[in-house]
Amino acid sequence: MPVDAKEGDRKISPVLPWESPGAAYVPNMPAVRDVSLSRASKFILSCLMVLWSLFLALNSLLRGSFRTDNTRGLLHPSINSTVCPQWDALYPIINTQIDAELDNIFASTDFKLRTIDLLAGAVRIPTESHDNSGPVGEDSVWDSFADLHEYLERAFPLVYAKLNVTKINTYGLVYHWQGSTEAKPILLTAHQDVVPVDPTTVSQWIHPPYSGHYDGTWIWGRGSCDDKSEIIERLVAVDTLLRHGFSPARTVIIAFGFDEETTGFEGAGHIAKYLEETYGHDGFAMLVDEGTGLDANFGNNIYFATPAVSEKGYLDVRVEITSPGGHSSIPPAHTGIGLLSLAVSAIEAIPYTPELLRNGTPFSTIQCIANYSPSFPEYLRTLSRKAVNDDSALARLKNALSKLSPATEALLMTTQAVDIIEGGVKVNALPERASAVVNHRIAEHSSVAELQQHYIDVLSPVAASHKLTLRVFGRVIVTGDSGEITVSTAFGTPLEPSPKTPVGYGPYSIVGGTIKATVATSKLYSGTSVILGPSLLMRTLTLLSFAFPCHIDDGLVAENTDTMHYWNLTKNIFRFSLVTESDHYNGVHTVNEALRADALIEGIRFLTKLILNVDESALS
Ligand SMILES: [Zn+2]
Repeated sequence: MPVDAKEGDRKISPVLPWESPGAAYVPNMPAVRDVSLSRASKFILSCLMVLWSLFLALNSLLRGSFRTDNTRGLLHPSINSTVCPQWDALYPIINTQIDAELDNIFASTDFKLRTIDLLAGAVRIPTESHDNSGPVGEDSVWDSFADLHEYLERAFPLVYAKLNVTKINTYGLVYHWQGSTEAKPILLTAHQDVVPVDPTTVSQWIHPPYSGHYDGTWIWGRGSCDDKSEIIERLVAVDTLLRHGFSPARTVIIAFGFDEETTGFEGAGHIAKYLEETYGHDGFAMLVDEGTGLDANFGNNIYFATPAVSEKGYLDVRVEITSPGGHSSIPPAHTGIGLLSLAVSAIEAIPYTPELLRNGTPFSTIQCIANYSPSFPEYLRTLSRKAVNDDSALARLKNALSKLSPATEALLMTTQAVDIIEGGVKVNALPERASAVVNHRIAEHSSVAELQQHYIDVLSPVAASHKLTLRVFGRVIVTGDSGEITVSTAFGTPLEPSPKTPVGYGPYSIVGGTIKATVATSKLYSGTSVILGPSLLMRTLTLLSFAFPCHIDDGLVAENTDTMHYWNLTKNIFRFSLVTESDHYNGVHTVNEALRADALIEGIRFLTKLILNVDESALS
């Protein structure tokens, strides 16, 4: 239903919109609506909407506003799309005055310098996450987190005085800001740990990695971008709201894990259990964690804001061969290592295939790019539009996207990479054991069970033809007497692809509307329009890289964010940080991590507006 949109004309719903089951999804329409329409009324309304849509489309075409010479086929940001609906900028209404006052304060040099100091102080405490750390409370590697806690308590006395602060598993931090109503709380998360600085690279840093040095533009140091800035932004947002007498109607919970860069189990894992026990399953209205940001690479002063609404799953699989030993002078046709090689060859001979499903996040992202990105290749734009209801175009689009780059292909499929292999102990002894570990990132449309079945399909013929028993995740699939292939989880626990956050009217539109309101009133990002589109997160890489495959740098790590522990808390999980690539001096997880100081302030503005907008969504 394309409906003309004007910035700022949204009304605030008197009830939580996403708590009204069955409420119709009407992009860019006023939020208040009568849900008790009769069928006849609905039919008439539908007809009117169709006529209105046709009128708008015709009108736009006649005015030529869809097209200019260098942006053929492009929708203007103020024109709505049925496949990538846009939501208007959303400003606090009840708290208009406090919002304006805070924007004034955020614009002051004094506030900026104090905030920079707060982040610099946090950066100076090297809370490094190590893969081989001992248990919390025993290994001294965790001690720096106690230092960070002391620092935060000194830096934010008002927050610690007014909010309930609970420590979970010693170093997890949960701040509880009680609201005056029973409305579901909002949860804002970040992580206290940073990736270690490689000692051999220290000399490459322009300013020392734990200096927190501010050079007038950049705040330098490990954690300045990932993720100390988000900790400081959340606490400063709450501190500033407290100082201006705001008290929430909706409870605000802030939670900081402390091992996101390894697995998150010690921090977010424990915090998740605590929050579920305290607030119940699905006890939160929404969650905002670190994630994707604003992408400014689309030309024409357009930013794409792409909150990540899902993440791929994860599994490391060990394929192990056990076979009879003996002297190498009388070898069989295939030793254990040979059999393992056959298994690896079979695995690589039948890789997973890319899928592009209309109900999947990659498809939604690509539609947003096709509709609104001036720099998207025209042949892909045309294909994308046809693919909305043409199956053969959908297949061609999938193939075209898969060929664009290995990274774009990876986003559409479960990936496999044989990364570790070992076996054999002596040159004159037949190996009795050999194994390989295969790393998998599981596609949004797939599952751990499908991946396990794939191993059965691929390895059964190998087992049968060499008289081997095949045991896959505990199930005997084929029996044989010449040895065994055992397929099992190599490390950790299998992780399913995340649930998909609903994208429509509700939390998604509030987050999107708040992003637009923040950018629309920003000096740093002035003169730009924002397009909102959902994305699938593979660490910092998203489907936006479709348009700019060369633009991927540090992205392809693809471990999941802390949100993988929080699935039970809410259906509405957004992985989004209000920051552009150019606000990072040199990316994250590498040398010369530095954040543009002005971006720190923008992050605070976004979170403050978000708290106010979400708070108002519960009240008339
Ligand atoms: Zn992070």
